Amino acid sequence: MIDFQELKAAARIDDLVRLYGGEINRAGMTRCVLHSERTPSMKVDTEKGVFHCFGCGAGGDIIRLAQLKEGLDAVAAARFIDSALGLNLDKNVPPKERFESMKRAKIRQFKARQERRRRDMENRLYTDLCGKLHELSALKAEQDPMSDEWAKTVMNLDKVRFLIELIEQNNQEDTK
Ligand SMILES: [Zn+2]
Repeated sequence: MIDFQELKAAARIDDLVRLYGGEINRAGMTRCVLHSERTPSMKVDTEKGVFHCFGCGAGGDIIRLAQLKEGLDAVAAARFIDSALGLNLDKNVPPKERFESMKRAKIRQFKARQERRRRDMENRLYTDLCGKLHELSALKAEQDPMSDEWAKTVMNLDKVRFLIELIEQNNQEDTK
């Protein structure tokens, strides 16, 4: 059994948020690690050791965060944090078990980083496509509807719209 106060004093909430793939900016904001979103609405107060998401309404201390993310009760969540962040406050955990949960945490961290990279790339692509859409729409308005150029622009517009829709659909699935 880990003492909650001792754990909270030793563990940094921003470390756990990062483990979950969150990137905290200078204002203490990150994209929520509990729900999928494009813009950061999760506030992390490292000093006080608390978080609050203005998007999904979740909030609390580091133990609460691990509870929500892992679906554990407070005692198990504390044990999870202890091994995931390598604090080793719980001396009763056999080294093998400790190693296993460290390994799981590392894998999770790796996956979160990959997922973040994928999403960043997708966001950049989305922004590019939206710019392209505007560009092509403007071009289309200037072109002669009887010309080959116009027909080509319309075709390109369709392609761009298709890709934008694809990303939007993909994002909706992420949020489910
Ligand atoms: Zn949230």
